[in-house]
Amino acid sequence: MYYYKTVSINPRIPERIGRLQELAYNFWFSWNPEATELFKMINSYLWEDVYHNPVKFLLKIRQDELDAAANDDIYLKHYDRVFEGYDRYMNEEKWFQKQYPNHNGQVIAYFSAEFGLHESLPIYSGGLGLLAGDHTKAASDLGLPFVGVGILYKQGYFSQRINSEGWQLAEYPNLNFSEMPIKPVTGKNGKDIIIALEFPGRTVFIKVWKVNVGRSTIYLLDADNVLNSREDRMLTGQLYGGGNEMRISQEVILGIGGVKALRAVGIDPFAWHINEGHSAFLCLERIRELVSQGVPLATAKEAVRASTLFTTHTPVPAGHDVFDYNMVERYLHYIYAEAGMSRDDFLKLGSIEGADEFNMTVLAMNLSGYTNGVSKLHGKVTRKMFHHVFKPIPQEEVPIDSVTNGVHTQTWLAKEMSDLFNKYLGEGWYKNISNQEVWEKVQNIPDDELWSVRKKLKEKTLHYVRENLKEQRKNNRESIKRIMEVDNYLNPEALTIGFARRFATYKRATLLLRDKQRLARMLGDPERPVQIIFAGKAHPADQPGKEFIKQIYDISNEEPFKGKIVFLEDYDINMARYLVQGVDVWLNTPRWPMEASGTSGMKAGLNGILNCSVLDGWWPEAYNGQNGFAVGDDKQYFSEEEQDRDDAHYLYTILEEQVIPGYYDRKNGLSPEWLMRVKECLRTVPWEFSTERMVKDYTTKFYVNCIQRGLKFQENNYEVAAQLRAFKQFIQENWHQVAVQSVKGRHDDEMLVGEELQVEAQVRLGPISHNDVSVEIVCGNEKGNTLHNIRAYPMEHVEQVSEGVHNFRGTVRPEQGTLGYTVRVRPQHPNFVNNFELPLISWAPNF
Ligand SMILES: *Cc1c(COP(=O)(O)O)cnc(C)c1O
Repeated sequence: MYYYKTVSINPRIPERIGRLQELAYNFWFSWNPEATELFKMINSYLWEDVYHNPVKFLLKIRQDELDAAANDDIYLKHYDRVFEGYDRYMNEEKWFQKQYPNHNGQVIAYFSAEFGLHESLPIYSGGLGLLAGDHTKAASDLGLPFVGVGILYKQGYFSQRINSEGWQLAEYPNLNFSEMPIKPVTGKNGKDIIIALEFPGRTVFIKVWKVNVGRSTIYLLDADNVLNSREDRMLTGQLYGGGNEMRISQEVILGIGGVKALRAVGIDPFAWHINEGHSAFLCLERIRELVSQGVPLATAKEAVRASTLFTTHTPVPAGHDVFDYNMVERYLHYIYAEAGMSRDDFLKLGSIEGADEFNMTVLAMNLSGYTNGVSKLHGKVTRKMFHHVFKPIPQEEVPIDSVTNGVHTQTWLAKEMSDLFNKYLGEGWYKNISNQEVWEKVQNIPDDELWSVRKKLKEKTLHYVRENLKEQRKNNRESIKRIMEVDNYLNPEALTIGFARRFATYKRATLLLRDKQRLARMLGDPERPVQIIFAGKAHPADQPGKEFIKQIYDISNEEPFKGKIVFLEDYDINMARYLVQGVDVWLNTPRWPMEASGTSGMKAGLNGILNCSVLDGWWPEAYNGQNGFAVGDDKQYFSEEEQDRDDAHYLYTILEEQVIPGYYDRKNGLSPEWLMRVKECLRTVPWEFSTERMVKDYTTKFYVNCIQRGLKFQENNYEVAAQLRAFKQFIQENWHQVAVQSVKGRHDDEMLVGEELQVEAQVRLGPISHNDVSVEIVCGNEKGNTLHNIRAYPMEHVEQVSEGVHNFRGTVRPEQGTLGYTVRVRPQHPNFVNNFELPLISWAPNF
C-alpha cells in the first residue's frame, strides 16, 4: 500500500469556448439535447466512448479538435445559443420565486440514499434513486431553493454481466471521481471540507462533494480518503451492499453526516425532507444540536417535527430497515446521551409495540410532522400498514398523505417527440408541463406524423438493442456466428413489448413466460408478430431474482423464441432512455399491491408508448379505459400462486384480444385504434405524472408549511414548540377522563332528503377545556361493522352543565341513502399539523 495524489492534466480549452468546462459540471446538459450536441459536435465517437460523461470528454478530447471547434462559425453559433439558454435558465425568476417571494432562499434539504441523475454518475439502483434525481431537476426548473444530500459510492450499485449460461455476475469497478461531473467542496482556506463522525471506538472522516443540477445542488458524502482506515474507506463503497452493520454505518453517514456536512458548507435548511427511512437519523442530529444549544429535549422534538417531511416508498413491512437494539446503541449512544435522552426513550422512538427492534420508518414517522406515500393506492396501503401506530383512529383517517410520483419530462422525452410537441402544442409547452390544457392539443398531431415518429424511434431503439446484445456476446467470447446472428434479431415491423426494471421478485418479470405454448403462438404469428425486450438487475443477494434472469435468458436462446425475446445486460439510465422511447408497449406486472408507484411507465407514456399494466401503483390513477391497457383487478388473494396464475391468464387474454389486434388492425397503413389510444395517453399521462406537478404538490402541501411551521415554532426561543409540547403532555395525562356520556339523535328512523339530522351530546372533559377539543358528528357508509368514507362535522359548545361536563349540539343534512353516524371527541390545537397529531379519540358508547 502506498499513497498517491491525483492530478488531471486537461487540454487547454480555447477561451472562446471556455464555458464548456462549466457546462460539463452542471447536469443541466443532460436534459437539454442542444447542450449535449455541443460535445457531440466536436467528436461524437468520443462522446459515446466516454459514456456521455462531459468531464471525461474534455479530459480526452484532442487539442486540435477543440481548436477547430473554436474556429467553426456553425459551432460557435450553436455554442452561443446554448449558453444564452443556460444563463436565462440559471437566472430567470421561476415559479417558486413568483409564488412564494417571502420564502426565497429558505433552503429545503432533501436526503436520499440514492440519486439517479445520469449514466455518468451511477449512484442509484432503481426507482427510488431515479425519483430523487428527477425531483432535484424539477426543483431546479421551478426555482426552489433546494439542496440534496446523498452518498458518493465508490463502486456505485454494481455493473451487471450476464454470462453465457444466463447467470448474472456482479462487478464492482471503482469509479474515478476526478473524471466525473462532481467536485470536492472546499472551505474558505481552499482545503477540502472534511467532517468528523463518531463511530463505535473511532472517528470516521467524510469528504463532501458537490453536484450541480441546474440551479439545485446535491452534496455527496464520501468516506474513501486517507484519514480513514482501509475498512472505513469502504463504508461508502457500495449502494445496498454488505450486511446490517454496513447499512447502519451508511445511514449514520447519510443522516448524521449529512446534517454536519450542510452546516460545514454553511447551509441552514428551513425544511427537511426524508426520502425513505434510510436518512431518518438526521432528526436525531438536529435534536442533539438543539439540545446542545440549550433547548429542552421535548421542545426540540416538536421543533424538528414541525419542519420535517417523510416520504415512505415501501408497501411491505419486510422492506423497511430494522436494526437490533444493541447495534443502534453501539452507533448512537453518544447522540442520545448528548440529546439528554434515556436509552429506553430513545429506542421507543424507533419501535413498534411488541417488536424489539429499531425501525427506521417508525423513527421517521415519529419525528416528522408530515408523512406521505407515493401514489393514492400506496397512501392507502401505508395507512393500513401503520394503522396500529394510530390505534383508535379509523384507518382511512390515519394521517399519512400521498403525493403521486412523476418523471422529469425533458430527461425522458425523445427529441423527436419533443419536436412534435413544439410543432403542435406550441413552442414553450415545456414551461407549462403540468398544465392539463396544453395537452389537449395533442389531438392536433396528424396520425401519420405520430406513427412515423414512433416507428423511427423503434428502429433506433432496436438498433441499440442489437448492438448491446452483440457486445454481451463478445464479452462472453461467443462464436462469430452467435454474434452475427443478432443482426437478424428483432423485427422493426413487429409489436414490441418492453419490460425493464429491478428484478425484485414481486415485479414478476417472468409472469408472461408461464404458459410457453400460448406465448409461442402469440410471438410466432406470422401475420401479427410480437417481440419482447427485457432488462434489469437483481440485487446480488437475491437468488430468486437472479433465477428469473436466467429463465428469461434461457428462453431467449430457445426456438421458437430466439430473436423474439432478448435480455439486455446492465440496465441503467441510458438504456432506460432508449427503451422508454422506442418500444410500443410497456409491460408492468407487479404483484398487487406491492408497487408503491412505479415510474418507468410514466416515462414510456410520455413518449406515446402504451402501458399494459396491473392496476397497481400509479396506474389506477392514470388508466381511463382508453389510454393504455389494464391487467387484473384489485381482488385480494390469499395465495401468491393463485394470484400469479390468474394474472398471467388475464395478461395473455388482454394481449391477444386487445393489444395485438389494436396494433395490427390497419387502415391505409396506420392503426387508427392504436393512435387514438396513443393520443389519449399523451393527453392524460405527461402533465399529471410529471415531476413538475409532483414538486409543485410537495411545495404547496408540505415544503412551505414545513418552512412556516419551523419558523413559528422557533420564535421567542422556541415558545410555540414548548407550548405545544406542554399541551400534548397535559392532554395525554388527562385524556382518560374524557367520555361521551350521552347522545341524542334520530335513529332507526326514516328521514326525507333535505331534512336535518340534529344531534346533541353530553361530554365529560374533566380538567380539559372545551376549547381544546373538537366534538364531532361522524358520518359514514356502513360496511363490515365500521364506517367508511368518513365525514366529520364539528359540534357547537352549548353550555357547561356541571364541573367538567358539557353539552354540544350539531346538525347534518345527509345525502340520500343509508348513513351511519356517531359522535366522537378528539384533542384540538391550532398548532396541530393535522387532526390526529395526538392519536387520541373518545367515541360515543352505544346510544
Ligand atoms: C425509471 C427507472 C427505474 C424505475 O422503474 P420502475 O418502473 O419504477 O420500476 C429503474 N431503473 C431505471 C434505470 C430507470 O430509469
